[in-house]
Amino acid sequence: MTSKSETVTLIGAGLVGPLLALGLAKRGFKVEIYERRPDMRRVRMSAGRSINLALSTRGTHALAAAGLWGDMQRIAIPMKGRMMHSATPELTFQPYGKDDSEVIYAISRADLNIALIDAAEAQGVKIGFQQRATGFLLKTGELRLWDEQTNEHRTLQRNVVIGCDGSASAIRSEMLKLNRFNFSQQYLDYGYKELTIPIGAGGSHALDAHALHIWPRGNHMLIALPNVDGTFGCILFLPFEGRDSFAQLTTRADVADFFRSRFPDAVAVMPDFVENFFANPTGSMVTIKCSPWHAEDRALMLGDAAHAIVPFFGQGINCGFEDCTAFLELVDRYGNDWGRVFPEFEEARKINTDAIADLALENFVEMRDRVSDPRFLFRKRIELALEAKYPQLFVPKYAMVTFHRVPYATALKRGQVQDRMLTALCDGIDRIEDLDWSKADRLIRSELTPLELPS
Ligand SMILES: Cc1cc2nc3c(=O)[nH]c(=O)nc-3n(C[C@H](O)[C@H](O)[C@H](O)COP(=O)(O)OP(=O)(O)OC[C@H]3O[C@@H](n4cnc5c(N)ncnc54)[C@H](O)[C@@H]3O)c2cc1C
Repeated sequence: MTSKSETVTLIGAGLVGPLLALGLAKRGFKVEIYERRPDMRRVRMSAGRSINLALSTRGTHALAAAGLWGDMQRIAIPMKGRMMHSATPELTFQPYGKDDSEVIYAISRADLNIALIDAAEAQGVKIGFQQRATGFLLKTGELRLWDEQTNEHRTLQRNVVIGCDGSASAIRSEMLKLNRFNFSQQYLDYGYKELTIPIGAGGSHALDAHALHIWPRGNHMLIALPNVDGTFGCILFLPFEGRDSFAQLTTRADVADFFRSRFPDAVAVMPDFVENFFANPTGSMVTIKCSPWHAEDRALMLGDAAHAIVPFFGQGINCGFEDCTAFLELVDRYGNDWGRVFPEFEEARKINTDAIADLALENFVEMRDRVSDPRFLFRKRIELALEAKYPQLFVPKYAMVTFHRVPYATALKRGQVQDRMLTALCDGIDRIEDLDWSKADRLIRSELTPLELPS
């Protein structure tokens, strides 16, 4: 067992690292982080991978527990639902939840990252920037770092290292050398490109600021999330190859024609879309599952390092922040007995992170394709009606994942049962008035038990 005066070393000051470091420092641990990028407070750069993010209950809960959410609301915009933009272009608003209390928040990735880094440092966490971890010898505790500014290599001796170093984790690369380490990575054949809608006329947002905008187009889609400064961060999701793909958009004229024909109302508020398109890299999206997440009591992975998922449920960071909540609860119980904390953490989380990985892949089809289907919208209305009548029994899958902290595995399982029910109830009807309530009552009471909703 290590003592609290011994240093806990984290790799990665992305989003999860500083939040975990803050929690550990508040509990009396000495914490240090090594981060390969420069300090983003000094070198303003794109934080990469989507300029803003959707935060929901799991994320805001973890930030509130760290004492940060109150203040952070200044840099977040509540989004009440999806605004669908058809090709005509016509707008349809679909609320996310049953009322205005059920919202998700758009927040700038860079602002969130900076706020977390500031808070961690204020709690005494030491962060070394431009320090890339190049190896961690799991048997001996040798941590190898490369200072990217001075080009120096050094080796430190560390008892415990936690990899919060994202989907290309260096700590995971070490784990891969272990016997019987399980690892799978599945890339989507879709890529993404970040674009920006600038501040609209008169300094206000060019589109409704309290919605997540979607231009669903079958095999591709554009989304836009508001920023507090009046801009929108947009992401275009497109296949890498084939029909309507990145491979086909090679000239300025290709890009201009494509956008004008598919997203005419977006183009109207995005004058620099062609420049943006060529200036920004095309990103790829991957699902990573692996186990074990820990090597004895010496090393652990957390956040995307342990379980990267595709972004279509807007849960990657919410899940990573929930990791912090779960980890810190175990630290509160077992202190620095990492031999107990690490395996129990993995035991509690792995089943749930596997579930959200599957839910996120499933939601891809929903977002790019089904959200514009009138039958899908009708099912959503029926879902809300069922929730209103049976609030403890029937909670829509989206709400379980987004507005509650129901374990993801429970949301996946109940979601499948509820999907079958909805199919049976919506079959052959077009109006909510025609819903067979006695059939609904029978199905719900026989197939669903009351749901525990953690506060
Ligand atoms: C297009 C897109 C949109 C997304 N939208 C959402 C959303 O709306 N909502 C949501 O919840 N999630 C979203 N996500 C997912 C979210 O971005 C990730 O889940 C989240 O960033 C994971 O945080 P992390 O701290 O684990 O990893 P990262 O944020 O990747 O941080 C890892 C850090 O480790 C550092 N690092 C890496 N290797 C080393 C090394 N060898 N040495 C030192 N430092 C190292 C990196 O520089 C980085 O700072 C999205 C992802 C993508 C790709």
